[in-house]
Amino acid sequence: MRRFNKRWWRCFPGDVRWLYGLFPVWAGLIFLLGQTSPTFAKENGQSDFTPPESADISTSHTATFQQSLTFSIAFVNEPRFEKVSLYLNAPNFRNTYRADFDIDAEAGSRIEFEHAVDLTAVQIEPFVTLTYWWAFESEDGMFFETRSFEVEYVDDRFDWEFKTSNEVTVYWTTGQSEIGQVAFDVTAEMLPKLSRFYQTELETPVTIFLYPTENALQTVFNSEWIGGVATPHNGRIMLPASNARTAVVNFRRQIPHELSHLFFDQLTANHREGAPKWLDEGLAVTFEDPPNSNYAPLLEKAFEEGNVIPFELLCSQFPTQSTDMVLLAYAQSGSLVNYIETEYGRGGLQALIATVNDGRSCENVTDVALGISLQELNTDWEAANQPPPAPTPFTFSNPNIFWIILLVGGFGLMGLLARSAFQPR
Ligand SMILES: [Zn+2]
Repeated sequence: MRRFNKRWWRCFPGDVRWLYGLFPVWAGLIFLLGQTSPTFAKENGQSDFTPPESADISTSHTATFQQSLTFSIAFVNEPRFEKVSLYLNAPNFRNTYRADFDIDAEAGSRIEFEHAVDLTAVQIEPFVTLTYWWAFESEDGMFFETRSFEVEYVDDRFDWEFKTSNEVTVYWTTGQSEIGQVAFDVTAEMLPKLSRFYQTELETPVTIFLYPTENALQTVFNSEWIGGVATPHNGRIMLPASNARTAVVNFRRQIPHELSHLFFDQLTANHREGAPKWLDEGLAVTFEDPPNSNYAPLLEKAFEEGNVIPFELLCSQFPTQSTDMVLLAYAQSGSLVNYIETEYGRGGLQALIATVNDGRSCENVTDVALGISLQELNTDWEAANQPPPAPTPFTFSNPNIFWIILLVGGFGLMGLLARSAFQPR
């Protein structure tokens, strides 16, 4: 077990102390910053040229989780620049973040400014390394770029400790080492089971972050529906874990569920955007051990009341109207995956995964893999799960039965009366 604290995570590649020394000259600067509207650009910089030494560039940054992410730059306006741009990349960004600044200042003057990224508009997942660089455009049309710098963006609201092996690393917050050990053991036990089912090993070692409360995890993703998160691109799982007594039961449900997402994502990497949600979540649900006790009664109620959600509606997203609807979507998906395994064997499920990876849409993935449309599969599954017909209430349909029962009752009553009349005193 090793321990690290907030500082361990923070990284200041540029020395920020230059900033203090420069404040006295700040007032004498003549410059004007133009547009600072952040835009998203696809390109990764525009030039291979490093800025000339005359520009004397210094950069720095500060990062406080979900509070601020600020980038500072100071340089001499030599050559004379017209525009400076900040580029920022995070693993979850589709495109590079870019903020442009127009420069209107005397040649040779020293310029410094900072840019704060709006973290309410730009979502960055925690525990990642961000990279950023600055680009310059001179008035004579030359483009320059600095080297790239790194920022460790971590959830520094807590102090974290961790335990690691080749395949698994588990992080927990101070005072939660017992829970951390349980998560570590459950993961080590479950990984081989999932490897056998999916017939592959995970390419990225698993890293699990245990948050001290559910709320602490939900604020990371700004969603009250989150009970656990898997980010397959970096093998990360984030879970709440507040109670050591219930940790074993909870982890045996949550960890294999999230591990399943990592395997599924790896096996459908060619077409992960189009993967049917019901299949991904359904597989994950079947690894929960023990199963969520809410699933069975919810399913039963939905069948009884005819409120089953059509699987076509569970292709790309799950409902979020109510907790019951969310849980029903999970319950149905798990139930359908179990049904497919029963009817088509494990090979049926593996064929489905391979077909998703081949790029088939959710609507025709079952056609190709199982030879049945999603609608027909839906109908078959519903038929197999219909509650048994209620037993017919007993009626005296045959009047003779009624009379026979009455007669037998009458004889019994007479016998009892006779016995009591001749009872010796
Ligand atoms: Zn899931």
